[in-house]
Amino acid sequence: NLVKHFELSSDNWFKRDRPVVRAVDKVSFTVGERETLGLVGESGCGKSTTGRLILQLIAPSAGAVRFMGTDLIAAAPQKLRAMRRDLQIIFQDPHASLNPRMRVEEIILEPLYAQGEKPSAALTNYAGDLLEKVGLSRRHAQRHPHEFSGGQRQRIGIARAIAPKPKFIICDEAVSALDVSVQAQVINLLQDLQAELGMSYLFIGHDLAVVRHIADRIAVMYLGRIVETAPKAQLYVSPRHPYTQALLASVPVSHPRLRHSRKRLRGEMPSPLNPPSGCHFHPRCPLARDRCRVEDPMLREIAPGQTVACHFAEETASPAPLSTPS
Ligand code: SF4
Ligand code: MG
Repeated sequence: NLVKHFELSSDNWFKRDRPVVRAVDKVSFTVGERETLGLVGESGCGKSTTGRLILQLIAPSAGAVRFMGTDLIAAAPQKLRAMRRDLQIIFQDPHASLNPRMRVEEIILEPLYAQGEKPSAALTNYAGDLLEKVGLSRRHAQRHPHEFSGGQRQRIGIARAIAPKPKFIICDEAVSALDVSVQAQVINLLQDLQAELGMSYLFIGHDLAVVRHIADRIAVMYLGRIVETAPKAQLYVSPRHPYTQALLASVPVSHPRLRHSRKRLRGEMPSPLNPPSGCHFHPRCPLARDRCRVEDPMLREIAPGQTVACHFAEETASPAPLSTPS
């Protein structure tokens, strides 16, 4: 059962730089106020599932998601609905996530209607303000989604997500379906909005080059587990989990030393429904030995701010300090 891997628990919403959402046990991470956590991994590793668990779009079999002092899983439906104002999501596919029969105004005000607000001239005006905030025109409010490009539709999705002034937005592959030039524009918009409005992002993606642009910290996921977390600069320069090292070696943004390292990813990712014993990564790991086949490594801190789930993380450091990538 895939969901079983996500035993989410968490910590309170505190001041800046303190945890907002903490998911512990098999998936363990925190997101601070005004912080962007990048959640990366190959397709099927459980990234999107994690986002959906946080939003209760799917029900976990156990665990807790604590957000701003409330356990979302244990919360009564009424309380949960009120919390949803602070917790929004932007989906990957703006075609599928925008109702083609609704006008743009109705779409972006939907989270407010879900909170019981009623249509009004003030809300219509607010919808116009939101459209301008995301780089569209107020005149677009009465149109339908099919009249817009993919990038514009994603801007509509962003307007909808920020409409209730949330504290936390899950961006689930939010730019993955867009052309590269449009991706950069949407990332810039997300960053500008964060600077202005102060929300946190969980930015879920498979493209390390894209995540690198927006994330403050990165969590790497493999087969339903977080295998490494680190501040962005540290992760790209000094990755310590063999999977992170292999992942970075396979993308163009990698450090020259990593690119030429021996740590290539071999084999296919096994089915998440039937993961390998012990360390889930052992069949593909160049450092695997007997202990890895039987004992599941816990995430542990191996450098300030950097956690790694590997029995032999002490052996994975680069032979000499890497200089900053050019
Ligand atoms: Fe590789 Fe073993 Fe570390 Fe897993 S615990 S990443 S198999 S060395
Ligand atoms: Mg996904």
